[in-house]
Amino acid sequence: MYSDATIQMVRESGCLLIDGAWVESKDGATLPVINPASGAQIGQISSASAEDVDAAVQGAARVAKDEAWSRMSSERREALMHALADTVERNAGRIAEIESLDVGMPIGVAQFLVSLSVSSLRYMAGWPSKIEGRTIPVSYPFGGEHFAFTTREPIGVVGAIIPWNVPFMIAIWKLAPVLATGCTLVLKPSEEASQSVLLLGRLVKEAGIPDGVLNIVTGTGAVAGEALVRHPHVAKIGFTGSTVTGRAVARMAGETTKRVSLELGGKSAQILFASADLDTAVPEAANSAFLNTGQTCVAGSRLYIQRRIYDEVIERLTRHASNLRVGHPMDPATNLGPVISAKQKRRIEDYISSAREQGAVLHAGRSNTAEDCGFYVAPTVVEARQEMTIAREEVFGPVISAIPFDEPEQAIALANDNPYGLSAYVYTQNLSEALTTATRLQVGRVLVNGAPPPYPSIPEGGRKASGYGRDQGPESLEGYLDTKVVLVTAR
Ligand code: NDP
Repeated sequence: MYSDATIQMVRESGCLLIDGAWVESKDGATLPVINPASGAQIGQISSASAEDVDAAVQGAARVAKDEAWSRMSSERREALMHALADTVERNAGRIAEIESLDVGMPIGVAQFLVSLSVSSLRYMAGWPSKIEGRTIPVSYPFGGEHFAFTTREPIGVVGAIIPWNVPFMIAIWKLAPVLATGCTLVLKPSEEASQSVLLLGRLVKEAGIPDGVLNIVTGTGAVAGEALVRHPHVAKIGFTGSTVTGRAVARMAGETTKRVSLELGGKSAQILFASADLDTAVPEAANSAFLNTGQTCVAGSRLYIQRRIYDEVIERLTRHASNLRVGHPMDPATNLGPVISAKQKRRIEDYISSAREQGAVLHAGRSNTAEDCGFYVAPTVVEARQEMTIAREEVFGPVISAIPFDEPEQAIALANDNPYGLSAYVYTQNLSEALTTATRLQVGRVLVNGAPPPYPSIPEGGRKASGYGRDQGPESLEGYLDTKVVLVTAR
């Protein structure tokens, strides 16, 4: 199913990218690369030590201080970013295949997300010439003439730590603003999914971006991740991952007064009003919950259904889930591939069993995979209650918890009654119902009558236990820039 060239690339791509050189970890430690569609080991990656992370940060710090990079003309910077976008576009097929092999992502989803990554790079490439300060009118009571203005300067070395679910796209979300602002990056991908990020390292070199601007330290969170967060020369940590780890990262980063942005987990609510167009709303709601086998932070995993259409929606949703094809990620007909690991499969199955024990009614889609091993989970519809664990915690698998409601007020209260605040979805044909609900939901974004994919100029991020800070859009640039004031007294 996978091309020989892709398999060969994974076999050979075990090194760290430090200051432009591909090197092995100093202590020779490695981690296995597992194909989630078969459970077989297909390669290994270096497991970076604290010493390796230090070398990567030193490289990144050297380039961050080099004015040839930090003060590069905006024309040149934009051209380099477009060159990288072109290189990614030329290699899109290979990147998608690697993502599919390493993560189990259905190939169609992987191809689409690589194309979105190209769009993100091109969008950010428009920003270097538009980063501006402001002039500030000053008039002191003691008189005199003063002129004040601000400049925006790159913060220096950024450390980014990312999860396994969509590694290439999230890596681009961290790298693009680094390139646009003149910072440098030390990137730690998940130990479960580093391959597409390692390929990105090659493409960055091919596009002519200077050595040391992007450094990649594969390895574990406990060693490489912590070393990066604690390093005194790292100015900011851009973290995407679980809330538990994000909180630990923020605590550690506080010791060296680093900036932190946290893109964390979610338990996103979908509110389906009786006025919705069910022919479009049910497939959209299902897609939001099951995309990438439910392994997206914005998965609409809680579905609140107005009671008078509840039975009909459950029937439609179950039929939809049963028709989804669970299968090999390289088969273009596959809707749901395997989940990332045996551990994740067990975790999802434990949530489902505990819901059953708590009295939930389950409707499961058929799992028609040909694989004997591999980490497959069928899409599951759970008729749950608000207090059940499955309806409260992030499952990160193809599971949707359905709960009825009567009045709009009740739906809003149920949706807000959760620690997370990442995303929400509202389905209705009534404009005032849509707007009233959208304005009262405590989340980073509300999608009405559809669940379209991320868009480069639309900020992504949450509130409450889903974190703070934004990827994508102009808001994301703020995290990479310092404001300097110059105040001139006329003499
Ligand atoms: P984790 O929090 O387990 O891991 C995320 C990253 O943190 C990994 O690279 C991990 O390393 C690293 N890490 C683990 N421990 C530490 C530590 N002590 N110090 C520093 N780094 C550490 O999340 P998952 O990888 O399991 O990803 C799933 C989670 O990510 C879900 O909660 C999901 O919602 C969230 N997510 C959020 C998104 C958003 O934009 N809001 C987008 C996508 C996912 P390693 O795994 O290599 O040990």
